[in-house]
Amino acid sequence: MSYYDVLIVGAGHAGAQAAISLRQLGFEGSVGMIGDEKDPPYERPPLSKEYFAGDKSFDRILIRPAAFWDERKVDMLLGKRVKGVDPEGKFVTVGEEEIGYGKLIWCTGGSPRMLTCNGADAHNVHAVRRRDDVDAMMAKIDSITHVTIIGGGYIGLEAAAVLSKFGKKVVLLEALDRVLARVAGEELSRFYEAEHRAHGVDLRTGARMDCIEVHEGPNGNRATAVLMADGERIETDMVIVGIGIVPETGPLIAAGAAGGNGVDVDEYCRTSLPDIYAVGDCASHANRFAGGAQMRVESVQNANDQAKTAVSHILGKEEPYDAVPWFWSNQYDLKLQTVGLSTGFDQTVLRGDPANRSFSVVYLKGGKVIALDCVNAVKDYVQGRAHVLSGAALDVAQLADASVPLKEVGLA
Ligand SMILES: Cc1cc2nc3c(=O)[nH]c(=O)nc-3n(C[C@H](O)[C@H](O)[C@H](O)COP(=O)(O)OP(=O)(O)OC[C@H]3O[C@@H](n4cnc5c(N)ncnc54)[C@H](O)[C@@H]3O)c2cc1C
Repeated sequence: MSYYDVLIVGAGHAGAQAAISLRQLGFEGSVGMIGDEKDPPYERPPLSKEYFAGDKSFDRILIRPAAFWDERKVDMLLGKRVKGVDPEGKFVTVGEEEIGYGKLIWCTGGSPRMLTCNGADAHNVHAVRRRDDVDAMMAKIDSITHVTIIGGGYIGLEAAAVLSKFGKKVVLLEALDRVLARVAGEELSRFYEAEHRAHGVDLRTGARMDCIEVHEGPNGNRATAVLMADGERIETDMVIVGIGIVPETGPLIAAGAAGGNGVDVDEYCRTSLPDIYAVGDCASHANRFAGGAQMRVESVQNANDQAKTAVSHILGKEEPYDAVPWFWSNQYDLKLQTVGLSTGFDQTVLRGDPANRSFSVVYLKGGKVIALDCVNAVKDYVQGRAHVLSGAALDVAQLADASVPLKEVGLA
């Protein structure tokens, strides 16, 4: 049986950062990384942005050049999927092979949640999670006109922005009464809805779809329309589904790890199983920036910072995970930057005028700043971070006055 002192499962953002940090901090033991994609770790955010738009080649979104992993003596076991974990024997199974570990870092992210209705398995129904998903869409893009996007979260909206730039006729269907409802306040939702409509996207909220109409062909079923609950038929050449992810935790939970929506981890990213850590999209943790609520955070920041926390614990340091959350989204010429977590906010303050396409939404809970969404407003993003960190109660009138720099806003 082959063996690694540290074995990383999942060659994405968190897995890459874990290996990088181990070597940066001088770890000299053996490190292996197993990933079920064929490519070495690459950045996922460009899949719905620059890579999808054709503005960046695949080489430019690699987290490190392919040779880096060899140079750092990280064994890349790519195109292999871990099916089982034996926490007592301390090995994982990949096909018939068993691979032993001293410490295991589980960084498997999530799989796109797919539709379950009729027609959901047609070959032109796509998710946006992996390079292969986007390559498959790109291969067809010149021959299609109508695209239906299911889901008004960041990925659906970013895909809509790219496709409308390509001149496609895009219909975006969101089941809730506004886009981004799970992650942002109403001001931000309404702003993005208006932007997409202004760019020609037929964006519909409260949209109830029924199923996908398919045409049987020699290559299997092809989606030809999305059928709505009210009987409307939306003609389509491609369907993109962006309705969230399901964390990839099966083998760990089967091995006895505590968890439900993700694998539960403590402040050092330890699971309930000995010598097994979990980080990134698949890890459910108590986040201090959400008042200690147990949650999974799906962001590059969280994947990288949790990987660093797990590695520092493996190397004998006790540095609990406590990083300020941040996130971004690019749509058209709009750069959204988010700091903090708005979960549970009870008040919002608008800084600036959305009509100017540069403004921020400040989220408060019990009078304290917990998060900011900043659209083309880099200064607010940079200066707002300190307020999120301090959790101070600020003067709301000053907060709402965009002429007062955030760093000068006084206490309430
Ligand atoms: C289209 C898109 C756009 C995004 N945009 C942004 C953004 O703008 N800003 C931002 O902060 N975040 C963004 N995100 C989220 C961000 O990419 C994720 O939070 C981040 O990739 C999480 O890293 P991870 O390592 O936990 O998971 P991943 O990067 O998903 O890596 C997990 C890897 O593990 C592999 N794997 C799963 N199961 C197994 C197994 N059993 N055996 C072996 N390998 C396995 C997976 O195939 C994958 O390669 C975006 C995500 C997507 C998909």
